[in-house]
Amino acid sequence: MVACPRCGESLVKRMTPPGVVYVCPDCEGRHVASPVLRTAGARGNFLNRVWLDAKHEDVERLLHCPHCHAAMAQVTARAGDHALDLDVCTYCNAIWFDHGELRAVPRDAAHVSETLSLKAREQAALLALQARREEEAAAPAESWPEGWLWLPAILGLPVECDEPALRGRPWITWSIAAALVLVFAATAFSLEPVVEQWGFIPALWSRHGGLTLATSFFLHAGVLHLLSNLYFFLVFGDNV
Ligand SMILES: [Zn+2]
Ligand SMILES: [Zn+2]
Repeated sequence: MVACPRCGESLVKRMTPPGVVYVCPDCEGRHVASPVLRTAGARGNFLNRVWLDAKHEDVERLLHCPHCHAAMAQVTARAGDHALDLDVCTYCNAIWFDHGELRAVPRDAAHVSETLSLKAREQAALLALQARREEEAAAPAESWPEGWLWLPAILGLPVECDEPALRGRPWITWSIAAALVLVFAATAFSLEPVVEQWGFIPALWSRHGGLTLATSFFLHAGVLHLLSNLYFFLVFGDNV
């Protein structure tokens, strides 16, 4: 026998379109599993909130689950203007609703509309469409990079649009960029011996005390290599 946690009366198993519901014939309380509630259109964020609250350590436990007899967590859930005191079994993934509480659970508009007349549904759809058009009209057009920036944008390179304002001049970024150019100029005509000495070799990562991890950043194989690295560095560096 599955007994009502409120009054001890035997619960009646009832098949409903969304799934099985256990109903107390005496106090009219209902025990409903979470998947059934979701199928019935109960709002996801409402159920998630209830579940998170039910998993708190210090929550009060008054009633026992009619199925597994574990103490159910008492959760106060907000539904519109009123508060519902629900009892949640986190083992069975189910909620006990006292008389009238189930009706107050917020539901998705799509499910609510099933109970409306055809005319009312049409009106609701038209209103939703109008609201969406107004929203789209109010939204600013997506900004397109100005000046020469359309070129890197087309090439798939990063371009800053509506970037956050800089809080100061990015001296460190500029200094490193200048050092990159200077090192490139100094090594352009005799790159190989420098790379052998200061390039990064994974199998010999600890050479020069591990310093090649950093020095390798300053070595570039050609002008294009240097320019593309500098471009990315200057676009992202100042934001860091
Ligand atoms: Zn009862
Ligand atoms: Zn249970």
